Amino acid sequence: MSDVKKIEKTEAEWRAILTPEQYHIMREKGTERAFTGALVNNHDDGIYRCGACDAPLFPSDTKFESGSGWPSFWAPVSPTAVETHEDRSYGMRRIEATCATCGAHLGHIFPDGPKPTGERFCINSASLKFEKGKE
Ligand SMILES: [Zn+2]
Repeated sequence: MSDVKKIEKTEAEWRAILTPEQYHIMREKGTERAFTGALVNNHDDGIYRCGACDAPLFPSDTKFESGSGWPSFWAPVSPTAVETHEDRSYGMRRIEATCATCGAHLGHIFPDGPKPTGERFCINSASLKFEKGKE
């Protein structure tokens, strides 16, 4: 069982909180263009939070340079922070990552990440909010 307290809002409420780009990516499962996101080249120490609900998602020390053009992490802050779902859209079989707290679409997880997990969480900058400083 997850200890995550869920946040639920109507689509109209999300639209009022999020920018149009954030709404498209987080609620309609869009993808920002590679190398356009604000956090791709961010190397500061801190915590990456959900852009929609502020839940902590990824610590900066699991961020790595994947060359993909999207912020990439090899692990979330805790196993319950991010939920995974099979995504069969676009004729591909991928693993979708969502915020466990509010259900926002974050990106996808690929099995070609670095050690120790071997996973690559490929996340849209628009789905994240960076908070500088050690957690
Ligand atoms: Zn969230």
